[in-house]
Amino acid sequence: MKPILHFDYAAIPILLIILFSVFIRKATKGLANRLFIIMAVMALMSTLLDIGLDFVTAIKPLNAFQINLAYIFCILYFTFTSGIVFLYLFFLFALTRTTYRFRRRSVRVIATLPYAVLMVILFANFYTEKIFFISPEFGYTRGEGVFVLYFVSILYGISGILYLFVCKSFLKTVNWLSLISLYIFSFCAIIMQYYNPMYLVEMFATSISLLMVALIVLRPEEIVDPVLGVPSYEAYKAELYKLIKTKQPAQIIAVRFINAADIRSYLGEELYCRYFTNFIQPIYRYARREKLSFELYCELSGAFYIILDDVHYDVKSSFPEVNEAIERENRGFLNTGVRFSQRVCLIRYPEDLATYEEILYLGSEFCQLVPVEQIFSRASDIIGSRNYLVSSNIDHILRRAIREHLFEIYYQPIYSVKEGRFTAAEALIRLNDSTYGLISPGLFIPIAESRGLILPIGEFVLDAVHRLLSENNLKELGLSYIEVNLSVAQCIQKDLPRKIKNLQNRYRISPENICLEITETIYGNLSKVIDENIRELTEMGYAIALDDYGVGYSNIQRILKLPLEIVKIDKSLVDGIDSSLGVSVLKNTVSMLKDIDKELVVEGVETKEVFEKMVEMDCDYIQGYYFSKPLPAKDFIDFLKKNNR
Ligand code: C2E
Ligand code: CA
Ligand code: CA
Repeated sequence: MKPILHFDYAAIPILLIILFSVFIRKATKGLANRLFIIMAVMALMSTLLDIGLDFVTAIKPLNAFQINLAYIFCILYFTFTSGIVFLYLFFLFALTRTTYRFRRRSVRVIATLPYAVLMVILFANFYTEKIFFISPEFGYTRGEGVFVLYFVSILYGISGILYLFVCKSFLKTVNWLSLISLYIFSFCAIIMQYYNPMYLVEMFATSISLLMVALIVLRPEEIVDPVLGVPSYEAYKAELYKLIKTKQPAQIIAVRFINAADIRSYLGEELYCRYFTNFIQPIYRYARREKLSFELYCELSGAFYIILDDVHYDVKSSFPEVNEAIERENRGFLNTGVRFSQRVCLIRYPEDLATYEEILYLGSEFCQLVPVEQIFSRASDIIGSRNYLVSSNIDHILRRAIREHLFEIYYQPIYSVKEGRFTAAEALIRLNDSTYGLISPGLFIPIAESRGLILPIGEFVLDAVHRLLSENNLKELGLSYIEVNLSVAQCIQKDLPRKIKNLQNRYRISPENICLEITETIYGNLSKVIDENIRELTEMGYAIALDDYGVGYSNIQRILKLPLEIVKIDKSLVDGIDSSLGVSVLKNTVSMLKDIDKELVVEGVETKEVFEKMVEMDCDYIQGYYFSKPLPAKDFIDFLKKNNR
């Protein structure tokens, strides 16, 4: 009976398309991808050999040449087909990041042994003819030992299936199904072929399941950054997840470029990407030379991560050499004066941090937790610090504070030069956490802003200030108004004026008792709703103060356009008073703002000398530790009673 080859023919284009697509999609890096390519090539070879065998043995009886050729074809065919199930097991290990378990030679030997034995038996078949033989009349004929072939394949098949069940928890269901499909399809094909030996469906089934794996599991668009051609941050997260699920110890190196945004805007997108690529190339070469088992993942916005399997490798001491190579090979870029300023953090898993979230968090935030000038830091040094504990738990801390009312408002008196007493105060929030103690607003306000938690906090501050004003007759103590900080998120709320109006009605507070502080960042993205809110609030009678003048790009044009009564000069400008240049900057700033009729508050005045100089420059209000730190409400009232008599 002549075998029917349709299915084998169909397998050829499928396998060619798989190989083509793998190369086009650049899914060629890494162990899993390489194993996959080898398997696809093996499947293609098996198919061709299968078809070839049919042609070679077409004219019977076979002559000696045909018989020898058929022998070779058969042996290669079995080498490749059982090679696929064998390699597939290692492919699964590589995909699930458990290859490290097989680095020990004994384990590798055990896993390879059945295949090696099979190879010996196959080649011995030349003499023994136990597995198959080629008869001149019938061509390929199974021998009584053919079960060995099935036995080895089933052994690897069962191991693979068991392994897939072990890994089920951390594989996506579709991926898991695609991966197990090879076994299911092959099993069905073998059964079919057993009952209909003329239909050669085995390679067809293999090619279909490899196609599924290629389409569904190997998704380089998720894995490789399309611009840089190296694994992406998403791939880093996926890999880290597997690392932790399989408890594989490793060293994780997070590298962030703190000036990436500036360089990107200076170089432009294309050159920036080239510089980025050039920057990481020497690292690859270094790792290859040192025979390190590592993978690098990048974030185009200015960071990359390395997962290093070797836990004993001394990362820090390799630093100078790697850096020197980077410098050498990037001279072209460095001539322009452009240079990534990098910060590195070494995390040892699991000694330093043992959870996925913690490692991700530290990798992206460590720059905020170490001194600015420190280039290399170790996770072990950071995680003990209070800042790390607070910032890594900040979500929890903030939510608890909101729930349990752990916020308190402090008031810092503001001195009026004209009246010679304290006529204003700034409300400053304090967070007293039951575990971590006092937490600075400089730390938690920006985080609250980025997590969408600032609105309830902002409302709490407004409410507290209104309540203080309603419960105490501060006018009698000489106080005209209290300044309240508004964050951007509050300013873009359409109902901000309505909310403030509600408070005004509820506590019966006149608008002139409140001044709202906004920062210039708000004007950086001046939106219509902010404009309208400010206009409306001004019409309602609220004074608006511009906070932190002198930080960043202060733009006089904007100040001119806005209905601002007060400008607060930032401490950083005041700190420059020690130098003659600083003095003239300050003098010019003050006189320019006075020229456009703004009332000036100077912040951060700590000494008598500075106070006197600011009075000399004709500033209206002075705020700072020289008079008082921010005080709890009760102490603040006592302060007014004592000093405003
Ligand atoms: P800011 O609005 O510029 O507040 C002035 C900061 O300078 C306060 O820090 C104050 O304690 C501090 N300060 C005042 N005088 C001196 C001085 O003489 N020397 C020094 N070294 N510092 C002085 P604080 O209270 O830690 O607040 C930090 C920032 O947190 C504030 O800067 C503000 O941006 C934000 N913030 C505080 N409370 C609130 C709030 O209720 N809402 C919003 N949205 N932000 C707030
Ligand atoms: Ca302020
Ligand atoms: Ca300020």
